[in-house]
Amino acid sequence: MNILVTNDDGILAPGLWSLVSELKQIGHITVAAPDREQSAQGTAVTLRHPLRVQRVKPLLAGVETYAIEGTPSDSVILAMGKLIPGRIDLVVSGVNAGPNLGDDVLISGTVGAALQGYLRGATAIAVSVESFESRYRDNAARLAALITGKIADDTLPGHLFLNVNLPDLPLGSTGRIRVTGLASRSHIDTVKEGHDGKKAYYWLIRQKIDRDAGENTDIHAIEQGDISITPLHQELLNKPLPGITDRLCAELLASLKG
Ligand code: MN
Repeated sequence: MNILVTNDDGILAPGLWSLVSELKQIGHITVAAPDREQSAQGTAVTLRHPLRVQRVKPLLAGVETYAIEGTPSDSVILAMGKLIPGRIDLVVSGVNAGPNLGDDVLISGTVGAALQGYLRGATAIAVSVESFESRYRDNAARLAALITGKIADDTLPGHLFLNVNLPDLPLGSTGRIRVTGLASRSHIDTVKEGHDGKKAYYWLIRQKIDRDAGENTDIHAIEQGDISITPLHQELLNKPLPGITDRLCAELLASLKG
């Protein structure tokens, strides 16, 4: 199994190397990740200037490692399109320091990188831990490896896109592992204005909305101390919307032409 490991916290982030350490027992690993912190870049790709790539010394010996002067998505696109000659079966992104839950998956560079792998035919797993201090990132990496093992032995179907989040708890205190859906809106964006003496500046600030997350959601799972696995291959890309019916589409078309 050929595995690409990437992240959005940058090539030196310990969570990435926790993943490499666990996954190299299962498959052949290549690392391609941003050369610096690129969190909250979502699926951004760089189209208006060239990308530089540096082959760097890995933190774990024997792993081909590329530092990309670009976004998480750039890293995956470059790796799969140019740097790695063979087919990539699996893209694992993380272990992110901090959760990627609910609507936040849309701005998450961790999830964005995994999505690029998924769109290019690989199975994709994004892995995050609730705590920014990442005390339990090794548990997250271990779980990613266990899921990978289930894909390798065909227990799980290929071409999945999973978003995995772990609570900030030792394994002894962790609850169940739950399959969840994405919670809706968990933050409200506010803009704080300041002045540096020369010019105005603005901070985008994300404030948590204090409200109950639905029972089957990822946020609910983490709040309960459970581990959340959200299959994004259906939820994000193919969510049914009952209001959009064939009849409505016909009406829209008739009005458009009318
Ligand atoms: Mn991050």
